Amino acid sequence: MAESDGRPLPTTTPPHVLIFPFPAQGHITSMLNLAELLCLSNLRVTFLNSDYNHRRLLQFTSVKSRFAVYPELFYMLGIADGLPTDHPRCGEQILDLFESMRSVTKPLFKDLLLSIRPPLDCVISDGGLDFPLDVAGEVGIPVVHFRTIGASCFWTYFCIPDLIEAGELPVRGGEEEMDRLITKVPGAEGFLRCRDLPSLCRGRDLSHPYLQGMVSATRLSSKAYALILNTFPDLEGPILTQINSHCHKMYPIGPIHEHLRTKLKNLKPTQESSSSSSSSLWEEDRTCLGWLNGQPPKSVLYVNFGSITVMKPDDIIEIWHGLINSKQRFLWVMRQGSVVAELGSNSNSNTSTFPEELVKGYPGEEHMVVSGWVPQKEVLDHGAVGGFLTHSGWNSTLETIVAGVPMICLPYFADQQVNSRFTSEVWKLGLDMKDACERKVVEKVVTELMVERREELGSRAARMAELARRSVGLDGSSGRNLEALIEDIRSMRRS
Ligand code: UDP
Repeated sequence: MAESDGRPLPTTTPPHVLIFPFPAQGHITSMLNLAELLCLSNLRVTFLNSDYNHRRLLQFTSVKSRFAVYPELFYMLGIADGLPTDHPRCGEQILDLFESMRSVTKPLFKDLLLSIRPPLDCVISDGGLDFPLDVAGEVGIPVVHFRTIGASCFWTYFCIPDLIEAGELPVRGGEEEMDRLITKVPGAEGFLRCRDLPSLCRGRDLSHPYLQGMVSATRLSSKAYALILNTFPDLEGPILTQINSHCHKMYPIGPIHEHLRTKLKNLKPTQESSSSSSSSLWEEDRTCLGWLNGQPPKSVLYVNFGSITVMKPDDIIEIWHGLINSKQRFLWVMRQGSVVAELGSNSNSNTSTFPEELVKGYPGEEHMVVSGWVPQKEVLDHGAVGGFLTHSGWNSTLETIVAGVPMICLPYFADQQVNSRFTSEVWKLGLDMKDACERKVVEKVVTELMVERREELGSRAARMAELARRSVGLDGSSGRNLEALIEDIRSMRRS
């Protein structure tokens, strides 16, 4: 192979891969990073987004110029997600996408697979969606599943039929019952409780289509050509071993954002990674970085609940008072539309932002509130940040691990309940305050994280950050797995 700009030049027509994420921020971010990693290895990638997110990505990011350096290797397409434009696509309502995509997107997806040129050699589809495996199978294209959740939650979903068979589900209700230990998730015995199961398991109705859909999509991964996971063995090794006994070809290549950052840095050592690699579906407000510059090292608790969480005003008030009472500096970022307008209201009307009266009542230099969206990775990497109060989304968890920042976990739904338990009990990188959103609890855990256990949690977080960075080096497990995945995809090229 010839070399130019550090990157090998292709000597033959590259294999053509379609990457198809579930239409939500965390899924798009990690799968777009994978797309860039594949382009860096001279694979041709078509990135298929929902029309809705395709427009937002073009509007709020420099995705076009980011990928312009891969001429003839990167293409973007949109496809209908089946929901009206004014659907909120957040909170529990994000689940509506599963139904609408099955009825509207699925037939369009089949047409696309048949008509796209050059023909596809491989589809990498979000393993949370069940239909791409069937559809691509019908037209003879191998499908690799990519799960954007952690291995621990993937494995928990995988085990749910065993939990039901053993009578460990449904959860019968009541606080004591929520603390009952689960025994049928191998590798998680002794610490995984009912309250730590994915939030869909909290309902009594185990035939609920969303729970059933998630379990069957997860089980389907063992039938896919291979499974890609955004994780690394130093973090989730024992669970990966469990999954491997069902999904024989498995590529843990995470943390993907750090993997990409490392590769780009090796190619262009002088270039700072910045918002140019953003995949935000909201406009980024960078003013908080200036405010952080004026704060002492590791003094600020960063608070952000991600792209889907919808919060009750009461919870916001409890968190606010807990933060104020802890007397710690904080930067709280609230996405527009992330507060239920009124309790009990239809969340189509989630238009409210942070309650202004709270901020006005507590003027001060020691906190900043942003009603919007910030460049999170840059915030976490900022030296003034000493902790993160997070909803425990998987991307946020990995970004925080790489930044070496300890966490307070307040999970909202889906995989977050599992992630927060592993963060606190297994990796011991933070404190889990799930189901206890009260000001006294907030004050206590913030003081514990930022003051009392600062050294202990900080040094453990620094150690895990080092392991994460090592994993994505050329000799690291994720580095080697990515190379093996790329070779595998090359071998799929149709003659
Ligand atoms: N994010 C961001 N700015 C924000 C809030 C979130 O850039 O103000 C990014 C964050 O860095 C992460 C993603 O949005 O990459 C959220 O994904 P995650 O899996 O953590 O949670 P989700 O939003 O899917 O619940």
